[in-house]
Amino acid sequence: MDKVDCVVIGAGVVGLAIARQLARAGREVIVLEAAEGIGTVTSSRNSEVIHAGIYYRAGSLMAQMCVTGKRALYDYCRDHGVPHRNCGKLIVATTPQETEKLQSIRAHAEANGVSDLQLISGEAARALEPELNCEAALLSPSTGIIDSHAYMLALQGDAEAAGAHFAFHTPLLYARANAGGIEFEAGGDAPMTIACRLLVNSAGLGAPAVARSIKGMPVEMIPPAYLAKGNYFSCSARAPFSRLIYPVPEPGGLGVHLTLDMAGQARFGPDVEWVQSVDYAVDPARADRFYPAIRRYWPTLPDGALMPSYSGIRPKIVPPAVATQDFMIQGPRDHGVAGLINLFGIESPGLTSSLAIADHVGTLAET
Ligand SMILES: Cc1cc2nc3c(=O)[nH]c(=O)nc-3n(C[C@H](O)[C@H](O)[C@H](O)COP(=O)(O)OP(=O)(O)OC[C@H]3O[C@@H](n4cnc5c(N)ncnc54)[C@H](O)[C@@H]3O)c2cc1C
Repeated sequence: MDKVDCVVIGAGVVGLAIARQLARAGREVIVLEAAEGIGTVTSSRNSEVIHAGIYYRAGSLMAQMCVTGKRALYDYCRDHGVPHRNCGKLIVATTPQETEKLQSIRAHAEANGVSDLQLISGEAARALEPELNCEAALLSPSTGIIDSHAYMLALQGDAEAAGAHFAFHTPLLYARANAGGIEFEAGGDAPMTIACRLLVNSAGLGAPAVARSIKGMPVEMIPPAYLAKGNYFSCSARAPFSRLIYPVPEPGGLGVHLTLDMAGQARFGPDVEWVQSVDYAVDPARADRFYPAIRRYWPTLPDGALMPSYSGIRPKIVPPAVATQDFMIQGPRDHGVAGLINLFGIESPGLTSSLAIADHVGTLAET
């Protein structure tokens, strides 16, 4: 049986960053991707925001990797000509109670190493964004937006330049861990039975299923999989904002916020809809909840301006009743299987954190 050094399952933004990291460390890398190309699942169904790292639990992997990943991502974009814009964001308070909360949000951000938030008055916020309704706001200067597909193409190019190979239409079907590494079978266009020294399971929504298909992986270490869909609405009216606009978060979510794509087009969302299966259709009726939420900070949003757009699905590993989760990245020391690294629950800020996650996996791969 052929034996290769490293196999990465999944060519989303995280799998691509990991493949690049391992290949540049001099390792032989093959990326197996079930779909026809890179980044066709969650990595192309998100907000494309470079997050500052404000809300995550202090000390969590999300908090650490978002802050270090953000810096690395800005540097990477600059060095590789990846389109991005450090546009900043405003978190807006529209009631006295929300204004009080801004202080605690800023303190929380500082604990995460985000020390550049500025608390500004409603007038100061309107000097930046004249059509904004708010009593006060927090300005996050390090938030930005990125062309995520251009970023993924750059990662793929780097990985290939360092010798990595990609096999598309090639799902991992079954694997077996043994003392020398992992043997596996892949199907699709390039069916193969091969063995590798290191298998990195970066299959996104499919990561728990991939882990379950590996004989020898302790099932009690595999988290359950839940799906939390996020629906977006686009806006037929020109949104008069040049920064991202977020309300003060509410229990269970960030609230209906406005993000911009690289062309300056506004989109609202994502909301949170727990679903049983993957279905990306956006129910137009959900707009009824978007209008009043948006009009709290943009009172002149015209009737009928919102149009169902796209959706993405968060790879949750905790049920709806649990407010937050963290990235779960397991190496051999965690699950006892030599040569296996699993990444579970890589929801937002996975795009922002991708280079930091890859760095962490690179370190795990050396141990
Ligand atoms: C609604 C929403 C908004 C978001 N907004 C942001 C944001 O603004 N900023 C941010 O930083 N993050 C954001 N995120 C998070 C970010 O999109 C994800 O963390 C990131 O895309 C995850 O990348 P991935 O490579 O782990 O997964 P994916 O992109 O899902 O890639 C996994 C790949 O594995 C493949 N695969 C699955 N099973 C197999 C198999 N058996 N064999 C071979 N291949 C397989 C899939 O086909 C897929 O291509 C958002 C997420 C959602 C859902």
